[in-house]
Amino acid sequence: MLDAGAKGGPMSQLYPFTDPQAAAPRRIVSGHGIRVRDDQGREFIDAVAALWCASLGFDDARLRRAASEQMAELAYYHSFMGRTPAVTERLADRLVARLPAPLSQVFFATSGSEAVESAAKIARYYQSARGRPDKMRFIAREGAYHGSGQMSAALTGLSYCHTGFGLPLPAVLRTGRPHHFRDAEPGESEIAFSKRRARELDALIRAEDAGTIAAFIGEPAMGAGGVILPPEGYWAEIQEVLARHDILLIADEIITGFGRTGEWFGCETWGIRPDMMTLAKQLTASYFPLSAVAISGEMARAIGGFAHQHGTFGHGFTYGGHPVGSAVALETLDIYEEMDLPAQVARLGAHLGRRLARLADRPGIGQLRRQGLLAAVEMTRAEDAARVAAEAEQRGVFFRLIGPVLAIAPPYVATPEDLDAIMDVMEAALDACAVEVAGVP
Ligand code: PMP
Repeated sequence: MLDAGAKGGPMSQLYPFTDPQAAAPRRIVSGHGIRVRDDQGREFIDAVAALWCASLGFDDARLRRAASEQMAELAYYHSFMGRTPAVTERLADRLVARLPAPLSQVFFATSGSEAVESAAKIARYYQSARGRPDKMRFIAREGAYHGSGQMSAALTGLSYCHTGFGLPLPAVLRTGRPHHFRDAEPGESEIAFSKRRARELDALIRAEDAGTIAAFIGEPAMGAGGVILPPEGYWAEIQEVLARHDILLIADEIITGFGRTGEWFGCETWGIRPDMMTLAKQLTASYFPLSAVAISGEMARAIGGFAHQHGTFGHGFTYGGHPVGSAVALETLDIYEEMDLPAQVARLGAHLGRRLARLADRPGIGQLRRQGLLAAVEMTRAEDAARVAAEAEQRGVFFRLIGPVLAIAPPYVATPEDLDAIMDVMEAALDACAVEVAGVP
């Protein structure tokens, strides 16, 4: 590696989502349970399961074995042109059986961004298949995160993902985020705020012409935009507007999928009936890159007929549905089922909730939010949250800092004692910052 200090030039890596002139990164060398160790021998609890994804911690022996056995059996094959790995076919059947209605077919990719890129293309393709080729645009929300490809970054509603990249794209229309705590009018109830967001969506669609819009994409609960849980009535209101205008709903479950919210899918938690769903991260507990797009039976039939007329479905990735990822995903699903995933997350989530409630009266706290094992400590001011995150890291816990929000999304293999250790550090870090937070000199 180039040494930035000695040579005064750039490091050998251009790091994703990092200030290139910040201090050199901490080098992580090993993982054990929900903890990781750096090259200085310091140990940290990762309270966000890395990137909301390492659901089974960092050294699950069964997942390691599943990967190495698949490597030995069939290390690679593709799913193009009339072949597919048998293990990938087994995973597709297993997922389809588990997905909520009306989802009944899956397309495999590798990363979350590829899944979102694919979902956008498949939504357009379906509109073409049903004779609506003018329905090519998308609606996405402020604060959304959908990935780092061209379209997935364009759908993302965070300015730092657009600036300098020639984004967003003209095909993307933007509507407001469901952040009641920050965006509601004084005295506006959650229901009233949800209805307002739905009215704004309806007005946008009328102004832009529903006949030009393929789909609306949304995370059931927003992750990278600050762990924004939908306010009361939000998804029912939004779905009503979309159905009325014949616009598809894509649920981006890349963070919320596979248990995070205390149900298998966030759609089940919030009564969402999507036409399409994107999945990644916890599908393999992140031990191997694998992602999926699920589509409804109606979409599958229309797409099947249209692609047949044109000889092929012209979309796919070399590594999509990789057999090693598929084997890891099957083992991950076994582990989730054996642990009774929704019950386990609900039980641990309730414990986390009791510890979060203890923060309520502290100075500087804006709002505490939690659903399952997805939680946010939103501070009034971003600078306070940054200080708390730095203090917590000194004390051995990584939280995810998002403006004024400290995000918490621990692995499902955390014990109640681990959650206590995480929240003890949160409290100690808040104590250490208390003087500044309270504004006392
Ligand atoms: N959608 C959502 C909701 C995400 O949280 C992410 C990643 N954090 C992505 C898409 C993109 O996934 P990936 O980084 O695997 O491309």
